[in-house]
Amino acid sequence: MTTDRIFLSTTIPYVNARPHLGHALELVQADVLARHARLAGNQVRFQTGTDDNSLKNVLAAEAEGIPAAELVGRYAAAFEGLREPLALSFDDFIRTSSDPRHRPGVERLWQACADSGDLYQKHYEGLYCVGCEQFYKPAELAEGLCPEHGTEPQLVAEENWFFRLSRYAERLYDLISSGQLRIEPAARRNEVLGFIAGGLEDFSVSRSVSRAHGWGIPVPGDPDQVIYVWWDALGNYITAPGFGTDAAGYHRWWAGAGRRVHVVGKGVLRFHAVYWPAILLSAGEPLPTEILVHDYLTIDGAKISKSGPVAAAADPAALAGRYGTDAVRWWLLREVPRVGDADFSQERLIARANDDLANGLGNLVSRVVTLVHRYRQGIVPEAGRPRHGSGGSGPGQDVSGGLALADAREQAPERVAAALAAFDFRAATAAVWAIVDEANRYTEQVEPWHLARAERGGDAAAGERLDETLALLAGACADLGRLLKPFLPDLAARIRAACDGSSGRLPPAEPVFPRIG
Ligand SMILES: [Zn+2]
Repeated sequence: MTTDRIFLSTTIPYVNARPHLGHALELVQADVLARHARLAGNQVRFQTGTDDNSLKNVLAAEAEGIPAAELVGRYAAAFEGLREPLALSFDDFIRTSSDPRHRPGVERLWQACADSGDLYQKHYEGLYCVGCEQFYKPAELAEGLCPEHGTEPQLVAEENWFFRLSRYAERLYDLISSGQLRIEPAARRNEVLGFIAGGLEDFSVSRSVSRAHGWGIPVPGDPDQVIYVWWDALGNYITAPGFGTDAAGYHRWWAGAGRRVHVVGKGVLRFHAVYWPAILLSAGEPLPTEILVHDYLTIDGAKISKSGPVAAAADPAALAGRYGTDAVRWWLLREVPRVGDADFSQERLIARANDDLANGLGNLVSRVVTLVHRYRQGIVPEAGRPRHGSGGSGPGQDVSGGLALADAREQAPERVAAALAAFDFRAATAAVWAIVDEANRYTEQVEPWHLARAERGGDAAAGERLDETLALLAGACADLGRLLKPFLPDLAARIRAACDGSSGRLPPAEPVFPRIG
């Protein structure tokens, strides 16, 4: 076991509406990585938060006729409130407008880049998408519209501060192509390398106070300008650990951490894999070590928007309230592929939970506990790894299924670790599920009830095989209670309680996951 300090973050969403299922996906993925790393003996700082200083937030507040601070406060609370319904284990939640750690850190980051000679003033005209908070070149637009939002960008002309991104193209290319800054999956790394190879232009990192509607962090020494919201937002990754306010905390959780991992959506990859590392290079601070990129969800075939009926149909807190935390997490982890968008529907969530958690896993645990009570008074027999078939033809002689189950149990921890290292949640959950499938197959194959009948008829060997079978199945259930901890912390705890023989006997059989619908 290697003990290491790991910084792990989600992106911080802007908060002009309630969280949607896409946010839940990123939070749950990061949560699984955090829980798994902690269980492996690492010290983990799992951080999330909200991007309060986005212009979109201001516009939403103006549309409602309320102060921006009130609107972002309301929605930031909704994001932080996902902790319980999604069983999230984040250690830190930073709000960029109100957290006292943030502004001093952003100002210091700005100053560090200025000291490196990487900030300069320039008149600029460009097409700006408020939805993306980003300038687009005409060639990057889709028939004149933002490729992310399908909206018309606005023409902006002002005197802005620029960041000398062009200076870092070569170093970024080397860091990413060498894997010192690892980007998963590989297709996303190649996308970033292609973008860098195409040439990096300096980018605008401020806007006028009037265009920012007076909201945001002023440029140090230039009160007419506000720091570009992406600069401000990206800064959260180091301001929360303590950059600019708490040197020891910053060293502990960022500069001196063994790994610095960002989980991000594909739409903001360029900001995290190009702009952010370049800013850190300029400031002389350590870069992230890994950027793990997920694709998007659609809901009933439609792209998720922040508000409207599509988002409302998949409100993560409401889904968890209706179907339970385990069902929501399981759909996100089991059905969303590593590459490619996934389509969510409530029917799919229900079917997945009932097939896997109620039928596959729930029935297995209930059955094993029931068999141990029926044939062994609730006491799990002791037995080692199953022996090879001894050539007999009686019930329980074919133990090949037992060997497959033993193999699935032995291999699962390593397969889970390898899959999570590759940011592949489907492969990780599949490794756990091999135990469920093999255990159910083994039970059908061995037919413990026939062994019990033979034992009652005086066949001592059948009794031994029944001991062996029940021990193997109970061990498999105990493994599931441990292995599922990072994925389904609540259900895993119920499995461990159902299989807890520390009092001498297992508790009476109770369903660990009743069917939903
Ligand atoms: Zn846009």
